[in-house]
Formats: sequence, C-alpha cells, structure tokens
Amino acid sequence: MKVDWDIIIVGGGTAGLSAAQYGARANLKTLLIEEMATGGLTLTISGLENYPGFPEPIEGYELAQRFTQQAERFGAEVMSATVTKIEPKKGYFEVSMDDKVLTSYAVILSTGAQHRKLDIPGEEEFSGKGISYCATCDGPFFKGKKMLVVGGGDAACDEATFLSNLTEQVVMVHRRDRFRAQPSLAERVTNNKNIEIRYNHEAKEIKGDSQVRSAVLYDNKKDSTYEEEFDAVFIFIGSIPQTDLVPFTDKDDVGYIKTDQCMASSTPGLFAIGDVRATPFRQIVVGAGEGAVAAHCASQYVDELKGQSYD
Ligand code: NAP
Repeated sequence: MKVDWDIIIVGGGTAGLSAAQYGARANLKTLLIEEMATGGLTLTISGLENYPGFPEPIEGYELAQRFTQQAERFGAEVMSATVTKIEPKKGYFEVSMDDKVLTSYAVILSTGAQHRKLDIPGEEEFSGKGISYCATCDGPFFKGKKMLVVGGGDAACDEATFLSNLTEQVVMVHRRDRFRAQPSLAERVTNNKNIEIRYNHEAKEIKGDSQVRSAVLYDNKKDSTYEEEFDAVFIFIGSIPQTDLVPFTDKDDVGYIKTDQCMASSTPGLFAIGDVRATPFRQIVVGAGEGAVAAHCASQYVDELKGQSYD
C-alpha cells in the first residue's frame, strides 16, 4: 500500500515545529498538523528571556513565527486541521481528521498540555469575564487594576512579574509556604514592590456580577476565610497533558507519555515530545531539543521500516 507521509507531527508548538524542521532536513516527507496557530504556548509568552541565542528578550509570537518559517523552508508541510483519531496499523499509522484520513510510517505527538483548573465555584462562570489563564493575553485589559494570581510554579511567577508591569496591585496566593518555581523566577516576585505574596493561601471561590469582583481566600495556616475585592484573577496551577488521541500508549502516574531517550513511546513508531511527554523540565528549549531527537530517531525507524518493504 502507498503510505502518504514518512512522518506526521500532530501539534505545532515549538517541539512539533522543531521536529518538522529536523524531519524535513533529513529528507523525510514531513507533515505537521495543528488546529490553531503554530507556536503553541510560546505564542503567549511576552519577552522570552531564556531561549539560547537571544540575549535580549524575544516575543514568543516572533520566535514561533521563526520556528514555522524555518520548518517550511526545509520543506515541511504545515496543515491546519483537527486530528480526531490516531490508529496504529501494521507498519504505519492512520491519522484521521473530520474530512480525511492520512497515513504515515511514524507519528510524532506534540499535543502539549492544557491549563489545570482550580474547580472552585465561580471559576467557570467568570472565565473570560475576569478569570484568565494567560497574563500576556488578558493582563492589558486590567491595567492599573487589582489582580489576584493563584499558583507557585514557574508560570505563576513569570506571569505575576508580567502583570506587575501593568499594575501596582498584584496579590499572589500559593497553597504552601514556599514556591515551587526556579529560584531565579521566584526572586523576581519576592523582590517586587508591586507583588504582595501570601503563602499558605488558597482561592476558594470567585464572585462577581457581569465580571469578577472578589475572591474568597482561605489562610490554611490560620484556618481562616475572608473575602477580598479583585478586578481579575489569573490562575497558573500547572497543566494537564493532552493524550486523548493515544489511549493505547503508556503514561506515567500523572498521565504524561513515557518515552525512552529517543522520545519513542511504548507504541512502535509513535514518538512524544514537548509538554505531553514525561520530563522533569518543561521549557521551550527542551521541547525544541526533543523535537530534533524525535525526528532523528523517527528517521531511523522509517528507514528500517522501508527496508522491510511494507509499501
Ligand atoms: P507546575 O510547575 O506544575 O506548578 C504548579 C503550581 O501550582 C505549584 O506551585 C502547585 O503547588 C500549584 N498547584 C497545583 N494544583 C493546585 C491547586 N489545585 N490549587 C492550588 N495550587 C495548585 O506548573 P507551571 O508553573 O505551569 O509550570 C509547568 C512547566 O512549565 C514546568 O515544568 C515549568 O518549569 C515550565 N515553565 C517554565 C517557565 C520558565 O522557565 N520561564 C515558565 C513557565 C513554565 P505546589 O507547589 O504546592 O505543588
């Protein structure tokens, strides 16, 4: 049978775009499928300052564009579509979309992770009405206003720092007595006069009318609950890997795809990279590196398969 593509990459964040570039450069017929704009979470980063080679901060949007242009320049094709199913067959995969089914020898999954929700009263009701999961996208709407940031990881610290440039009133609540964030990012918020940090605090409810007006906060050290006025609430409490397309492959305890050092999953021919993969450190530079490794190993896998003349 004729297989359409050597590699199909599902998901066009920086990890997927890097895989597309390396796949195409290895002379593989490479297709990347992304349902939204390419770039993934990188698109939401303002002033990215830790990507090697850019001593001055670069806008995430610009970096994502450069990744895409580079992949396309080497011959990768980028398709805008939603993948609905990935099915391993003998020696190839079927990748289904609403209106078509394509085949490939290997699939590189780069579907990333979605923002975790607090699951508290008011969160769903006021989502988009003062509750946000992206400071770069929504922060400017609340310039000069009082903002609540929930979380204690890298994202919370990064985004709170961004918001502190828009207002002098950022309150940050974290459920424990210390941040999980890298020290360099945590220091940015602890030394910031516009950010008030409240450790051992949890958000219990968001209230409002047509938009957010207040939050109910719980001090878990004092065991006391109080309500405070806020104009916006930004939630950064981690993420949930997007693995619905691959129920058949092995995951770790918290649902991220397990791979070997080649980014190969437990399913022959399926590779996983970026935020969907079990990894100790989720960074753009790590995702880009994983994309390169996956494309390299996928190329060897495809060569071996073709040697066995499945087509
Ligand atoms: P994360 O590292 O998993 O941190 C999540 C934070 O949210 C933790 O502080 C956690 O508290 C808290 N949390 C989780 N569930 C909660 C709940 N139900 N209620 C209240 N708080 C809750 O997630 P992240 O900050 O989104 O980062 C994700 C990955 O991206 C990380 O690997 C990170 O390194 C990377 N990242 C890097 C950068 C950068 O380098 N500039 C920026 C953003 C993200 P506990 O601490 O108590 O567990």
